[in-house]
Order: sequence, then structure tokens, then C-alpha cells
Amino acid sequence: MTFASLGLTPNIANLVESLGYKTPTPIQTAAIPVVLEQKDLMAGAQTGTGKTAAFALPLLHKITQFKEANSTSSIQVLVLTPTRELAQQVHASFVRYSQGLSVHSVVVYGGASINVQLDALKQGCDVLIATPGRLLELIMKNLVDLSGLKSLVLDEADRMLDMGFIIDIQRILKNLPSARQTLFFSATFNDDIFALSKTLLKDPTLIEVNSRNTTATEVEQRVYAVDKDRKSGLISFLIGSKNWQQVLIFTRTKQGADELAKEMGEDGIATQSIHGDKSQGARDRVLADLKAGKIRALVATDVAARGIDIEQLQYVINHELPYNAEDYIHRIGRTGRAGATGLAISLVSEKERYLLTDIEKLVNENFVPQWLPGFEPNLDKIENTSKKRPPSKKELREKALGIHSPKPKHSKRKRPRR
Ligand code: AMP
Repeated sequence: MTFASLGLTPNIANLVESLGYKTPTPIQTAAIPVVLEQKDLMAGAQTGTGKTAAFALPLLHKITQFKEANSTSSIQVLVLTPTRELAQQVHASFVRYSQGLSVHSVVVYGGASINVQLDALKQGCDVLIATPGRLLELIMKNLVDLSGLKSLVLDEADRMLDMGFIIDIQRILKNLPSARQTLFFSATFNDDIFALSKTLLKDPTLIEVNSRNTTATEVEQRVYAVDKDRKSGLISFLIGSKNWQQVLIFTRTKQGADELAKEMGEDGIATQSIHGDKSQGARDRVLADLKAGKIRALVATDVAARGIDIEQLQYVINHELPYNAEDYIHRIGRTGRAGATGLAISLVSEKERYLLTDIEKLVNENFVPQWLPGFEPNLDKIENTSKKRPPSKKELREKALGIHSPKPKHSKRKRPRR
């Protein structure tokens, strides 16, 4: 199978082959002909499967054809992404894939100067890549013309819903021509995703490259049982003793990310953190530092890590398991990209076991937690915590009066703000 045999112009086919893409990935093989036919698409594909090229290449093909036949220029493709990082990454892919073609791509996202983005739009734009908030701002201020739009791509639609963008998306949709092609990409599926897709897609072709909600097959998943207070030591030990470079570590909170980066730095592992409180410039810098090998590890929250594309990233470590089991799939999808192998390590303390159970159910796999010599969990502690504490006076009184106490607080799986 070659890119040319999928119907792409020789120009585009030759270009991707010159980028080192020898054969199309499964999502590319399935999606490219559908997009070229101008049909709607609902694709279940996680990051790392080559999904960006699966939509970018055929869309560039169509833009080129349109521009050859028409002298007018307008925004023909809109790609909506949940985060700035993913927007930048998709933009970089469009730029890479359109070398030598006269196609202009512009990226807009919040947290950066709108004037610079407006200047870029004024230079001419065929492909607009945007996060929902900033795009809505441009639409409301009448600063962007989407009347000539032919194709809309929703990238990582599941994450857009998770991040609460549904209202923004609905408002954006009202401002788009209804006669258009819509391409819908999501790594995971649930009822909300199907409900959204139904409002957007007309007779879509359904493509799933992996079965639903599965993790990347090329990624080895390992779970270590370890006490909470020994996790950072274990991570520094693994990275140091095995001489790992370019490690992405996930924490649940911004504060947790900063603390872990500091502790690892004290252990002699050059580490930085990336999360929503950091400026765009700071986020770009640490990412560049990781890619250039100036730091060995990056600690990230789920939202900030979205869209990070580090070629050859081999190691992902979950310092804590995510509250939302689907985030696990996204996290480990950072490694093992486009057929490369990867290792995903999850550190699980006794109190987090229920989160592991949720993940096991979602990915339909059973993990056997291992002990890393030197970091074995303290069994006395586990036994002590699992021993029933003596009832309090209040509980004894309630029992005597036949009143049922409410469930203990810790059983509520409340998700902290990220
Ligand atoms: P994506 O899933 O779009 O984030 O792509 C993941 C990675 O795979 C990116 O680094 C792409 O450059 C790379 N890639 C995409 N398509 C191919 C292909 N056909 N062959 C080799 N690498 C690819």
C-alpha cells in the first residue's frame, strides 16, 4: 500500500514519502479515501496512530484542487482542537505536509496575542486550526470569515467534551455553513460522544483502527505497587539507574507536578513541570528543552500534556493514576507512537487500587502489580490502614439510636480542579 494508491496527488504522496512515511498507517488507509470522497467520518483513533495525516493529507489534496480551479481564496478547512499544544502540533503537521504547495495554515488559541493571530489571518488562510474559546472570540468580533468553509475537523472530541467546550462548540457550529464535510476524531467513546456526533454528522463512515477504548498495543504496561511517599524516589531511581532520557510523567494536580519536578531535581534528574498555570512561552520552552535533551523528564497534568508530540518518546510514568480512567488511555498514548515501542509505568499506592480497577475494566486487561526491590510497600502500614478503626462516640450513639451514618468522605471520587 502506498500513499499514491490511496488517491492522493503525486505531489503530496511524494512529499510524505520524502518525510520518511513509507506506508500509510491503518487509520490513514481507511480514512484518506473517505475524506477525498467528501464524506463525513467518525473515527476512533488515539493519538500516535497517524490520525493527523489521515485528515490533513486528503484535505490538502482537496484544497490544492480547489485553488487550481478557482481564483478566490477563503478558509476551507477548520480544525478544532481542545488545547493550544494540540493546535500547535496540528498546525506544524499541516505546514510540514504542505511544503511546496501554495496552501496557508494559521493557528489561533487563547493565552497569546490576538493581534499577531489576526495579522497571520490577513496574510491569507486556507486552513484554520483553533481552540474553541479563541475562535469564538474571533467569530463574535466578526474578525474571521468562515462562509466558504468546506470541511470541519473535530480533533480529540472526547477531550473537548471533558474540558467543557460543548457550549462553545455549539455556538461555533451555528456560524458555519451547514453544507460541509465533518470529520470527527475521538480516542474514546461514550454516550456523550455519540450524542454530539449525531448532531454533527450526516451518514458518516465509521472507522475504528483499534477496538474501542483500547490502549496502544505497542506499549508495554507495567504497574508497581509502592507507598505514596516513596513514589518520587522510585521514579528518580528508575530514570537514573536505567539512564532513561525523555520521560513524561503525569500527576493529577498542578501543585503535584511542581513538587515532583522539584524533588526529582534534588535527586539529580533535570526535570521541569508543565501545566495550566504556566505561560504559553514557558510551556513551549520546557517542551523544546525536553526534545533537545536539556532536561530528562517533564512532569505534566493531563490537560497540559494533551497534544504533546515527542517523537521517539519511550517512557511514560503515571506518578498517580488519573481519576478519569479514559485519561489513562490518553496518557499512555503519548508513547508507542506510529508503531514505535514504548513503556508505560503506573505507580499505585494501596489507596489508589480502586482507580486501577476502573482502568482494568475500561481497557479490559488485568494488571499484576509488581514490587520494585528497594521500594516494596510497607505491609505494616497497609495492614494498619486496612484494620478497622474503633467506632467513635458519635457512631456508637447513632448505632444505639438505630441511625445510619452517611458514607465516609473518602469514598466520594471527587475530581479536583486541574
Ligand atoms: P499523530 O497520531 O497524528 O499524532 O501522529 C503520530 C506520529 O506518527 C507523528 O510523529 C507523525 O509524524 C508520525 N506518522 C504519521 N503517519 C506516519 C506514517 N505513515 N509512517 C510513519 N510515521 C507516521
